[in-house]
Amino acid sequence: MGISSGRVHKIAVPIGIGAAILTSSLGLLLPEASIRVGPGMGGDDVLRLAHVLLLIVGLTYSTFRYAGKHHSQLDELALLVFLTCGINLVVQLTGGARSYWQGLYLVLGGLSSLAFSRKIVVFLVALVLCLETSNWLIAAEASPVDLFRLAGLFLLAVVGYGYMARAERERAERAEDRLLRLDTGLRQLGGSDLEEDAVSPLSEEAQQAGRAEQLQRLESYLEPLVQLAAKATKARAATLLQVAEGEKSYWARLSTEGASKVESKRFDLRGSFLSAVLQTEQPVSLASATKPHRLPWWREPALVQSVLAIPIRIWDEPPLILTLEHERPGHFDENRRELAVAIAAQISEAQTLFRRQAQHYVEELELKGLLGASEKLSSAAHVVDLLRHIVDYARGVGRFDTCAVCLLAEGNEAFSVVVAEGYRKELLGKSFPLESSSWASWVLRAREEPLAIRMERRTGMPILDPKERATTATNFLAVPLRAQQRVCGALLLTRNGEPFTARELRLLRIYCNQAAVAMENAIVYERVENLAATDALTGLFNRRYLDGALERELARASRSESSLALLMLDIDHFKSVNDTYGHAVGDLILKKVAATLSGRLRQADVLARFGGEEFVVLLPQVTAAAALDSAERIRASVERTRFHAGGKRTHVTVSIGLAMFPDQSDAPESLLEAADQALYQAKKLGRNRVCCSGQVEAET
Ligand code: GH3
Ligand code: MG
Ligand code: MG
Repeated sequence: MGISSGRVHKIAVPIGIGAAILTSSLGLLLPEASIRVGPGMGGDDVLRLAHVLLLIVGLTYSTFRYAGKHHSQLDELALLVFLTCGINLVVQLTGGARSYWQGLYLVLGGLSSLAFSRKIVVFLVALVLCLETSNWLIAAEASPVDLFRLAGLFLLAVVGYGYMARAERERAERAEDRLLRLDTGLRQLGGSDLEEDAVSPLSEEAQQAGRAEQLQRLESYLEPLVQLAAKATKARAATLLQVAEGEKSYWARLSTEGASKVESKRFDLRGSFLSAVLQTEQPVSLASATKPHRLPWWREPALVQSVLAIPIRIWDEPPLILTLEHERPGHFDENRRELAVAIAAQISEAQTLFRRQAQHYVEELELKGLLGASEKLSSAAHVVDLLRHIVDYARGVGRFDTCAVCLLAEGNEAFSVVVAEGYRKELLGKSFPLESSSWASWVLRAREEPLAIRMERRTGMPILDPKERATTATNFLAVPLRAQQRVCGALLLTRNGEPFTARELRLLRIYCNQAAVAMENAIVYERVENLAATDALTGLFNRRYLDGALERELARASRSESSLALLMLDIDHFKSVNDTYGHAVGDLILKKVAATLSGRLRQADVLARFGGEEFVVLLPQVTAAAALDSAERIRASVERTRFHAGGKRTHVTVSIGLAMFPDQSDAPESLLEAADQALYQAKKLGRNRVCCSGQVEAET
């Protein structure tokens, strides 16, 4: 809209204004003027005078408006109309000089019409010209010279129109050319080198670094586009606004110089015309001739009369809005709008490309994380290690307030809590029946797909312990540990605040599927390992296990600089027990002695069947005196224990040899040797007693 061909405008309009003022005032002063002022003034004269005064006032006012910086198209039109009418009136008033004035008037009209690009204005001017011309022809009984003049006038109009049409065409071509260049420029910037990078055989690290750089490049690549939008449309400033969550506010993300220092600032969207832009999803152009717009992203209220806002939507992201401003009304005509929309489309494309890259990047990282995590899983043989890995991975995927892992017990009638982060300490290691009212048992029973749900505060089921009233968490995520359609356990996460996302669910599901396979293997492995470590008859650890345990306990004791006691027990006269009651009863008695020993020990103590009717007990972190005390209590409890054999009650006794680490020895073999020596001593001294390696000896 507005003035298009600047040069014509610059010459024609001042000439027009000057001539108008001159002729209007001359018209009053010339002696031929037919207005009589003063005594004898008729009604006609008053009307004419009013007409002249009105024209002078109108002309002066519109000239001043026109001269102002922010004149509108309406001001231009008003000036033209006043000018035309003014000249016409002068011509009428001066009578005799008609042909001269009329010639000037027609030329001025023709020239002025060139100054406007809007077709409606050209049409109006042409209409006025035609009416005036016909009026003149009728009034002046046209002579051949007049007809000649008329022909000249039409010629002028044709030339003027041709000139305008050419200017219009050239402008369109320039716009198209700019778009074309913009397009090729973008293609060079975007597509080609991205694809090349993607297939080049770079090292993994270089690829990662390259991709990160690309993302940066893409982000910084929006800036020239915003600048381009300002330049192409000759806007004073361009701003790229990002609508923030909830579409209630937005922040200025990028802006050109005209709107500088507004980047990364938040503004309220409600009540702003931008909300209309988002609703209609169409470019909206404001071009006020009267009231300047106060744009909310300006620090000081700016006087902007033309604003063009184009919404840019990318996938399901918060939308962007490209805004262009100009202080003159009607600045953004069809061409500029078209250009701006084209650049907005490029911004959208760049952003889409950027998002896609970023998504690939994230997916790749996730995949890498999964690969690394599953490698860890496959190298972990024990359930404890697996559980640690599972919790670590869950922590890497997202925030949680509580994390629990439950494993189904053999027979599927109960489950035990093997991880309970964020829960009461007592819950760890606890077992609950599968048929109980908790999320854990529900998930283990349902054996369904992973689920993420929002829970009503304090109304939902408890997560683990059915005796607890309810959970206080608002978001719950459960992933069954399922290997080959068999559920062996479940991972249960809770958090307050943000709900669990589809991404978290997806990642944990993939991971837990792998973890479940590893878990099954680990459970089997541990079972086999247990079998290899236990004695079949008594259920105690066997000699093999004892060797390992002794080595571990000694290493630990020497690390913590604490002492350790080793007791070697042997049942007295067991051969004769066998001989008297038979081997089967001997076995039963062996079992019962094993159980009696187990019952007398602490959690940290290790009890193993050393072979035959010999047992070894490791007592970590005890003094020699405490160890002797324990040994004595063990001996006494065996002595007190009664067995049913051959229809009567009987009992057995044990002899015990005691050796201390590090006092008697600091190596496993020699410690066993020392204890054995003490045991031999006890036997020699009459059995049913405890003997210490070295000086201490206790007799009963
Ligand atoms: P001492 O007081 O000197 O230890 O006399 P003892 O008879 O216990 O002698 P020794 O320790 O040499 O004998 C071990 C006996 O324990 C030999 C074997 O008959 C018996 N025995 C070893 N292992 C088993 C077993 O698994 N079951 C049964 N029933 N008897 C066993
Ligand atoms: Mg014996
Ligand atoms: Mg023996």
